[in-house]
Amino acid sequence: MPNTPFPSKRAPVFQDIPDEQWNDWHWQLSHRLNTVADFEQLFPLTESERKALSTPGLFRVEITPYFASLIDPTNPLDPIRRQVIPTEKEILPFTGMMEDSLAEDKHSPVPGLVHRYPDRVLMLVTNQCASYCRYCTRSRLVGDPHQAISSRDFDAQLDYIRRTPQIRDVLISGGDPLTMAPKMLERVLTALREIPHVEIIRIGSRVPVFMPQRIDDALCDLLQRFHPLWLNIHVNHPNEITAELAEACDKLTRAGIPLGNQSVLLAGVNDDPYLMRKLVQDLVRIRVRPYYIYQCDLVEGAGHFRTTVAKGLEIMEALRGHTSGLCVPTYVIDAPGGGGKIPVMPNYVLSASSDKVVLRNFEGYISAYAEPDEYQEPDESLIAPYKPAVPDPQEGIFGLLSGNELAIKPEWFDQVHLRGGQPPRLSADQQKGKALGSGEDEEKSNQT
Ligand code: SF4
Repeated sequence: MPNTPFPSKRAPVFQDIPDEQWNDWHWQLSHRLNTVADFEQLFPLTESERKALSTPGLFRVEITPYFASLIDPTNPLDPIRRQVIPTEKEILPFTGMMEDSLAEDKHSPVPGLVHRYPDRVLMLVTNQCASYCRYCTRSRLVGDPHQAISSRDFDAQLDYIRRTPQIRDVLISGGDPLTMAPKMLERVLTALREIPHVEIIRIGSRVPVFMPQRIDDALCDLLQRFHPLWLNIHVNHPNEITAELAEACDKLTRAGIPLGNQSVLLAGVNDDPYLMRKLVQDLVRIRVRPYYIYQCDLVEGAGHFRTTVAKGLEIMEALRGHTSGLCVPTYVIDAPGGGGKIPVMPNYVLSASSDKVVLRNFEGYISAYAEPDEYQEPDESLIAPYKPAVPDPQEGIFGLLSGNELAIKPEWFDQVHLRGGQPPRLSADQQKGKALGSGEDEEKSNQT
């Protein structure tokens, strides 16, 4: 396929807007489309879209003129239209539906801060976005002026990060941090950079996709003062990769900001292996590293976007080996109930014995890798400086491998197995441990 230039589009209704206004992000924000009348200037709405747009209490609708211009006006199935224009299906409940499917609220020590993983936190700094995605995981918070993050919340978030030295990585998200007033964004970044244990700052933003005009020199100058700073954008379909997005990404990478992409696997948008291959290849062309493909969350309003997990596996099968490794993201399911991201991929290890591992490649070629006859773990003196003084309470399966844990048990396990009787007899090792005073009954659990 030739290295075709990326398109640049402007809907006929915006053709007379002077370039100076069109390229001004303030103009884009203040001219967003959100009513039946607005959209019908661009294309006829379906009955289902018209009804949804008139439904009270619907998740907020706003679309920048730039992003609306990417919609093919002749195609009701257009993949960009499907992401941002509601249909009646959004109102339908589905099996497994939840309001806060990732249980973020349960992992919030202070409002707007999610501490789910050992060394990093998610900081929600605004609930505003440039446009609103119909499948948004945080639709319970985003776009609602009554749920805005207050200055007091922000101070509490910073205070928590200051007194939690294990946090070395802060992901700023929302909403969309790049919709914030530059002064406010600067305040957030400055405050984080003053915390010595915060090593890296990450921003999650769909602004380059919805409103690439926002990525101007002043913003890049601001961001590059806070390195190491990384930015993940959110592109779902090849049609979102335009000349304007390519230029915005070029500016950001020239400011030294590494770019990644997070896509959500969406029925009727990008649930096809060849389409996804084109997307990841085009992303790499504009110097954006595909980072994640998310399985669609079980969030209210997103039922009609869900695909099977098998579809995600089929897509990963079509990527790994078929295109550059640089193009291959990690496919993850964010476990309902707050289990965090779980990577899912086709199985490449077919079998193993004590001296061989049998592997298959993307073509179905199967071979045996001989394990070394003598493998020696590295000398303790080489690795001691890297070991934590206290084992991480979230070590999980790695804790079993490292020998820090013997088993991971559900909270109810010991109680149930008492069966109302005597405590179980201790093994010889357990008795030895007890005699040494190393623990009452060696309660090994994943509960911290
Ligand atoms: S840009 Fe992100 S936070 Fe905003 S609506 Fe889309 S998915 Fe939700």
